[in-house]
Amino acid sequence: MGQLIELYAYSQAIVETIREPLVVLDKELRVKSANKAFYEKFHVNREDTEGKHIYELGNSQWDIPELRLLLEKILKKNFFVNDYKVTHDFPLIGKKTMALNARRVILEGHKTHLILLAIEDITYQQEIQKIKDDFISLVSHELKTPLASIKAYIQVLEKKLSETGDRQLAAYLSNVDRQSNKLNELLNELLDAGELEFGRFNIKKETFSLPDLIERVKSDFETTYTSHTLIQRGRPDVQIQGDKNRVEQVLTNLLSNAVKYSPDSGKVVLNVVREKDSVTFCVKDYGVGIAKSDLSKVFERYYRSPGVSHDAKKSFGLGLYIAAEIVKEHDGEIWVKSTPGKGSSFYFSLPVRQSRQ
Ligand code: ADP
Repeated sequence: MGQLIELYAYSQAIVETIREPLVVLDKELRVKSANKAFYEKFHVNREDTEGKHIYELGNSQWDIPELRLLLEKILKKNFFVNDYKVTHDFPLIGKKTMALNARRVILEGHKTHLILLAIEDITYQQEIQKIKDDFISLVSHELKTPLASIKAYIQVLEKKLSETGDRQLAAYLSNVDRQSNKLNELLNELLDAGELEFGRFNIKKETFSLPDLIERVKSDFETTYTSHTLIQRGRPDVQIQGDKNRVEQVLTNLLSNAVKYSPDSGKVVLNVVREKDSVTFCVKDYGVGIAKSDLSKVFERYYRSPGVSHDAKKSFGLGLYIAAEIVKEHDGEIWVKSTPGKGSSFYFSLPVRQSRQ
């Protein structure tokens, strides 16, 4: 018994020490205890809180649909949920966005359980992030116009040069052209990421032929890269229902990463395989590879693996995030396998349009 009391005091001490609001609920979702940070943050006191059902607290201010979903559905299936975002307008403290970490702890040989709910107020971070995103979108938008005019002048100069035939100048100009294309790609990435964030990302679906797409991607690759050869296998004769340009963007992005992160290899493989209801693309490289701990993070916004040398001017860590969102919009899946030092294989699958016969 003494041991139990000691254990209880010990766990209470842990709960109190945590600086973030934390509440412990029983199986019926009644508050067993909460820490000081919880009472201070939400302007409630211990007497009005302990023993109460979470949804009844402070004039039902915690009766939030997303929280119900978390506590009644998601936590039934999972033992823990991290970073579950909830935005709610609280009567006393105003509109807040919270990141919730919840954990179900089984007690007394499965007879009952407790729920630990840690609440992090991320309102401020979200606001800062929004200001940053707005700024990036605005700047990229503004930069597109002068860049378009630079591109137009490059074309005029190219035409003039082809008449005079000055090879040296033509080589310089084609360098300027390549760099302005790169700049354009970077701006497009920033604009895409901004649109995704604000839910304005546009997908225009149509039916297109897969072999045509592969052919275009292959020929683009051959004109863009001289350092690597593309080995292309499989060309299933199927139709895809989707945004042709966006799907091409996914492939081009995976291929450009494959080249970028395999500077010493000289080849990249693109495999396309027809499955029952879908088609799977695999872009394989023989480059630096990705550490196991980074595999799940490479699709996150702004993520760049530590330890890989990045030319800061040429990469934002947005390409895979955008690719993953495009694939998601097409009801497909994207994943990666990699061995550090040996290379990586990025896969994505898209549903194929079934022919009506
Ligand atoms: P970036 O513009 O930095 O390449 P991405 O979103 O395309 O951004 O990729 C995110 C990160 O994932 C990269 O910075 C890199 O560290 C890692 N990565 C992506 N593709 C590969 C690859 N083929 N091989 C090794 N690492 C890769």
